[in-house]
Amino acid sequence: MIIAWLAPAFALQTPPRKKVVVVGAGWAGLSTAWTLSKNNVDVTLVDAAARPGGVVRDGFTTRGGRPAEAGQHGFWEEYFNIYKLLYEELKLEDDPLTGYAEQGQYSPQGLEAIWPVYRDKQIKLPTGLAQARYTRFLKLSPLDLATAAPLVAAFSEFLSDDDAWKRYDELSFRDLCTKLGVSRKLYREAFEPMILTGLFAPGEQCSAAAALGMAYFFVLKSQTAFDVRWCRGNIGDLIFAPWCEKLRERGVTLQFDTRIEGVELDGDTVTAVKAAGETIPCDDIVFAVGMRALKGLAKSPALASRDEFRKFGNLRGTDVLATRLFFDRDVETPYSANACWGFDDKVGQTWFDLKKLHSPRLDSEPGAVVEVDYYHAGSLLGLSDAELEAKARRDLETMVPAFKSAELVDAAVVRLPEAVNWYFPGSYQSCPATESESLRNAYFAGDVVRDLGHGSWSQEKAYVSGIAAANKVLGRSRLDGVEPLRPDEPHVAAGAAAAKALRRVLSFGGDGPSLASVPW
Ligand SMILES: Cc1cc2nc3c(=O)[nH]c(=O)nc-3n(C[C@H](O)[C@H](O)[C@H](O)COP(=O)(O)OP(=O)(O)OC[C@H]3O[C@@H](n4cnc5c(N)ncnc54)[C@H](O)[C@@H]3O)c2cc1C
Repeated sequence: MIIAWLAPAFALQTPPRKKVVVVGAGWAGLSTAWTLSKNNVDVTLVDAAARPGGVVRDGFTTRGGRPAEAGQHGFWEEYFNIYKLLYEELKLEDDPLTGYAEQGQYSPQGLEAIWPVYRDKQIKLPTGLAQARYTRFLKLSPLDLATAAPLVAAFSEFLSDDDAWKRYDELSFRDLCTKLGVSRKLYREAFEPMILTGLFAPGEQCSAAAALGMAYFFVLKSQTAFDVRWCRGNIGDLIFAPWCEKLRERGVTLQFDTRIEGVELDGDTVTAVKAAGETIPCDDIVFAVGMRALKGLAKSPALASRDEFRKFGNLRGTDVLATRLFFDRDVETPYSANACWGFDDKVGQTWFDLKKLHSPRLDSEPGAVVEVDYYHAGSLLGLSDAELEAKARRDLETMVPAFKSAELVDAAVVRLPEAVNWYFPGSYQSCPATESESLRNAYFAGDVVRDLGHGSWSQEKAYVSGIAAANKVLGRSRLDGVEPLRPDEPHVAAGAAAAKALRRVLSFGGDGPSLASVPW
């Protein structure tokens, strides 16, 4: 009786749940919603697209109606936070990822390099030495490879302090390589393809800071840094669908096909987000969208006059093209995952044997299934689907002539104009910080965020940035609950400390000269 009498009183005292709108349901937005939903927050996750996943979403089809996706998705050694999500939090029944396998690198002249499974090498070597010793470059001379040595000094300086990012962001990766005497052949055949496939733009149009940061995380952090696992099927089915189901179970509202066009403000406070014909009130907002979308949102009337948002007008995305080819018979391929260079000027390229990577999911297909993707693909997007299918097939035949004996029976062409963030020189200062600089209750997430302080890239960075944005909404420190990267290996840490000390000495205590700013 007393309990019945007290219950309404307690109910009255329960503070209303904070209402947070998260804009964008890619890795970053899903991660923000996931973290907030563990903490009694009323979350609405909205996305302009029909399905979750952002730039890596599925939901595309071949002309024959088979499912297709926006590319193939790799998970590198230190994706610790995504691994924690997949294996400890979502507890998926089937492992959504493949094991590790050797990878190939091709040009129109054939096989150029083989990346082994570095963890399988018996003798563990210090990073740098391990990649030099175990990577098999078939056509690069030791002399060419030796010209990479001065880059070690740039890495040491880059890793020495946070300000180094700003210094190295001012010049392009190609200019840095030219300054440091990297041979043309090494640059063209090893570094340029790496930048085109890792950062989706050519080296002369990529920030040297972004290139060094990306290469360190994906390749040089340790002997095993470049070992990669791939999604074993459609990423939408294997990861995003079960994740969204769990989000719904936790009470998150997921709203697709809803493009946010602007916000309503009360002074410096966002009170609601606006979509066509709809206004969604909020206490806080998290923008988990990429550069192209930020640029668009910055033009909306309530935001356009704010310096922070005006800077987003400088940002841009780069074009991606994904093709999926279905053949009438199986074709033996040497490596399941491959990068390529030299087919089209300033275009990056990868291809994957999906029968192998998605096994056994595509076993019922009569023949080979191959994904051929192009990055910084603006020069290709205007071609017709038939022309692109023919081109992808031609490129494949040049690398693996056995494809000439197979007939193409079905194909998908997925165009993603300006879809991926473009880290051009000088872009850093226009990127958002986790907490808005001009709005009291707005936050940013995504691989576009400049102050994450974690060191990861791509999907892992987007995922971690979502946790960081949620932490800020909850009043916690940015990287609360985030798995850190492993510490730098001792010789790398010593190099960074020495670079810092040397700059001090050369400048008599202040900031000394930087390799990034020497004029030659
Ligand atoms: C072909 C391809 C291959 C890739 N391969 C890899 C890989 O192998 N490994 C790896 O780690 N990374 C890879 N990446 C990069 C990785 O996918 C991205 O770093 C990551 O997905 C970015 O996630 P995000 O959540 O920050 O942004 P996004 O994925 O861009 O998500 C932003 C979301 O916001 C939505 N949105 C935009 N504007 C609005 C609006 N106004 N209103 C509502 N919604 C809006 C969009 O629809 C989108 O869903 C690849 C990318 C591509 C395109």
